[in-house]
Amino acid sequence: MKIKCPHCGFEGDSSEYIFIYEVTLYVVDSRVEREERERPILVVCPKCKQGFFLDNPYKRFYRYQEHTSSWRNSGV
Ligand SMILES: [Zn+2]
Repeated sequence: MKIKCPHCGFEGDSSEYIFIYEVTLYVVDSRVEREERERPILVVCPKCKQGFFLDNPYKRFYRYQEHTSSWRNSGV
């Protein structure tokens, strides 16, 4: 899978990027509860070291964005 960095324009394979997934665990009555919140995966560019989201977390609130084709949600 090819990923293009929105900051510097570097285009590389997904294996070249660093993926950070934040997970929070809650302990309730000595049991670990899984967090219900949805968190996007942060992708860090190997060239400019800037992070961005592969999938826009606010995508669902938008329909078609004219200037950023990556946000295009053609199914809706
Ligand atoms: Zn970059």
